[in-house]
Amino acid sequence: MSIQIYNTLSKRKEEFKPLEPGKVKMYVCGPTVYNLIHIGNARPMIVFDTVRRYMEYKGYEVNYVSNFTDVDDKIIKKANEEGVEPGVISERYIAECKKDMEGMNIKPATKNPKATEEIGGMLDMIQTLIDKGHAYVAADGTVYFRTRSFKDYGKLSHKNLDDLQGGNRSLLVSGEDQKEDPLDFVLWKPKKEGEPYWESPWSEGRPGWHIECSVMSKKYLADEIDIHAGGEDLIFPHHENEIAQSEAANGVPFAKYWMHNAFLNIDNKKMSKSLGNFFTVRDISKEYDLQVLRFFMLSAHYRNPINFSHDLMESAKNGLDRIVTAVGNLTHLAENAQAGAMTDEEKALLEKTAEMTAKFEAAMEDDFNTADAIAAVFELVKFANSNSSAGNTAEYLNALKAKITALTDVLGLITEKEAEMLDEEIENLIAQRQQARKDRDFAKADEIRDTLLAKGIVLEDTREGVRWKRA
Ligand code: AMP
Ligand code: ZN
Repeated sequence: MSIQIYNTLSKRKEEFKPLEPGKVKMYVCGPTVYNLIHIGNARPMIVFDTVRRYMEYKGYEVNYVSNFTDVDDKIIKKANEEGVEPGVISERYIAECKKDMEGMNIKPATKNPKATEEIGGMLDMIQTLIDKGHAYVAADGTVYFRTRSFKDYGKLSHKNLDDLQGGNRSLLVSGEDQKEDPLDFVLWKPKKEGEPYWESPWSEGRPGWHIECSVMSKKYLADEIDIHAGGEDLIFPHHENEIAQSEAANGVPFAKYWMHNAFLNIDNKKMSKSLGNFFTVRDISKEYDLQVLRFFMLSAHYRNPINFSHDLMESAKNGLDRIVTAVGNLTHLAENAQAGAMTDEEKALLEKTAEMTAKFEAAMEDDFNTADAIAAVFELVKFANSNSSAGNTAEYLNALKAKITALTDVLGLITEKEAEMLDEEIENLIAQRQQARKDRDFAKADEIRDTLLAKGIVLEDTREGVRWKRA
């Protein structure tokens, strides 16, 4: 079997063939960091982390790059409101985002470049585009990409330039009249009062949004990469513009496979702050283990919209519990089982699981159909439940458990409960926290509290001192 990927570029499923044998170069557009991430942002993170995990399961070495956009109007606005530098805002939310990602068991990327640290590369690429006639400098120091100079413009979003032109006319805003053509987009813009800026040959200013991904992908992966991914809202204009910039500058195709996840809605409506149906990942973590959110996300195919609701989260919780319970039972049985080699009968049973593993792989290789892959995991769980007992050998029980966890690992689901922290370890950490507070090192004190919370230990500060309980 080979992996089939639906490619937005060709609008069909294609066999995955890496550019370099045994390696996958993958870039996923990351969040703009001005707030806690919301559950919509969590979808591409979970989906493409699962793609990565499957590739690794198949033996590929994956170089996974995902950026943080840390210079943007929203970040600057929030910094001005709080009276701090924009870097304070972006660093705060990068740290928070990483905490949420850890809770969702997203593997750390090979590299998480930040826009503000890659300005040099952006200046180089913009200069190359100017030199090649694909970009021009307007009177005020703005640099625009000359969209019509790139013949393939529209190939990803399957839009025709003339339709775009008609549709875009109404979008013209003041200042845009210095463009040669309404379709041209910004590569570099001069600073405004109160905004961060960098020196450049064209003006003191900052980059347009699209250029960062072209530059980071080139620097940390290659001119041509295997997979570029993100939410479907990014197809146009973001990814279309990235293709124009990269291919015009580098002279080779940008990415072979373009993958896009569909949107997450809430109770069948678009999630929005104004509708009052907006949830951050942090909100959800107060009610559920974030593993449940991950399981919920994977219960639908990534190219179908997914509807978030309390009922669906409850059923995700029950589904995940079923797997966790089965794995826990196998652990318990194995711990109490007699030693000795696996019997022939047990070997035969174990062989039967190959059928379910094959189903799982077939589903994953059909454009990462995690919904069907989960169904295969449930079949395996059912099989394990009815073919394990106190009479089995530990070797068999452990092997059976490993069959399940091999698959749940691919989905990034933690199904084995960590050993509980001992009372002594907890009390030790609490003492360290008290000391940190005495030293007025509140960051450290908070960190210890968060570490304990992550292990299910809740602290309560009372007049008599600190009390703790297991959540
Ligand atoms: P942003 O910070 O808006 O650039 O978004 C970061 C990532 O989250 C992008 O890949 C978006 O496409 C994705 N995204 C944003 N909202 C949703 C949503 N409601 N459902 C699925 N993906 C989303
Ligand atoms: Zn991007």
